Amino acid sequence: MTNISNLANEVVEFSRKIFGDEFIPLHRPIFNGNEREYLIECIDSNFVSSVGEKVTEFENNIADFTGTKYAIATVNGTSALHAAIELAGVERGDEVITQALTFIATCNAISYVGAVPVFVDVDMETLGMSPKSIREFLEEGCEMRNGYCYNKFTGKRISACIPMHTFGFPCKVKEISEICFEWNIALIEDAAESLGSFIDKRHTGTFSSMATLSFNGNKLITTGGGGMIITDDEILAKKAKHLTTTAKKAHPYEFFHDIKGYNYRLPNLNAALGCAQLEQIEKLLEEKRKLAKAWSKFFSNRNINFIEERSGTKANYWLNTICLDSKTERNKFLEITNEKGVMTRPIWTLMSKLPMFKDCQKDSLKNSYFLEDRIVNIPSSVPESVR
Ligand SMILES: *Cc1c(COP(=O)(O)O)cnc(C)c1O
Repeated sequence: MTNISNLANEVVEFSRKIFGDEFIPLHRPIFNGNEREYLIECIDSNFVSSVGEKVTEFENNIADFTGTKYAIATVNGTSALHAAIELAGVERGDEVITQALTFIATCNAISYVGAVPVFVDVDMETLGMSPKSIREFLEEGCEMRNGYCYNKFTGKRISACIPMHTFGFPCKVKEISEICFEWNIALIEDAAESLGSFIDKRHTGTFSSMATLSFNGNKLITTGGGGMIITDDEILAKKAKHLTTTAKKAHPYEFFHDIKGYNYRLPNLNAALGCAQLEQIEKLLEEKRKLAKAWSKFFSNRNINFIEERSGTKANYWLNTICLDSKTERNKFLEITNEKGVMTRPIWTLMSKLPMFKDCQKDSLKNSYFLEDRIVNIPSSVPESVR
């Protein structure tokens, strides 16, 4: 057994060596490129808000980077998820399969359309949705009727499935995609954390009809706040743009909106920031990989489980992650490191434990409970010295 106080103190020491003496956050943004220039361009052009060239440019650049045909910018990742879920045909009263071990945004967005999440377990290696769990859930508890999947227990239709690539580690979405196809369930990847993560050289988020990204301040690259829907489907892309921009029919002067739409568009100012950030993404990914290597060596010398990308995949190492031996050790580790100004944090409380979702159906969630007690994220910013 490791001495957890020693480990915590060594992590503090190592963090100070890499990141310096001040307070060390979990993940800080870097503005080393053309951020200022592009922002000033926006201000000088007067196009700071919902109309402007930077939005289109940012969308095109994200589409290029992820290898998708279309990208639709939104005001944040949650709104991208909300719109995608609605566009996937999820209706009030439906159920959506997701993982209990995720950030609240996934489940919030499911509830915004009046649907209810159903929780399946995650894999130990990927921390993302387990294909085995979803298959068991469907085979034991669901049936096909009129071409749709119904939950035999609740009688509700299961219309979508949302796996999440936790901390940038690609989940087994290829397998999940095959299962969803068999059961006629729409697949949406929550790729908010996995920009720059690949499976067999294919970008995460390209294994489903639609996927969503986030550019919140703590993500790999940031627009301040922002999100994106990516898709290869032209019709969905057009609908997504329409739905997220108040559903206004194009007209030189008339205001006519043909469906209930949302004002979810990303302001030009934020897109400008995104354009500058995206120019630096390869360098960022490279530096984060180096940092992960250093952490990996540090922890393997101490016999601690540092989570690594599985073979055949490339993780962005957005947040570096360790798995400790118990909740007691985890708490002690979190206390010591945070007290010393080195930010570390636990993984999220399981969605199935939150008041809004406590009555939702779930499987054993065996791995989810195990990981919930033991996972810790450690400082993951690109070090000052290379910024
Ligand atoms: C960050 C994140 C989102 C989106 O969050 P926003 O703050 O709305 O951009 C969605 N899902 C997951 C898993 C996330 O980590």
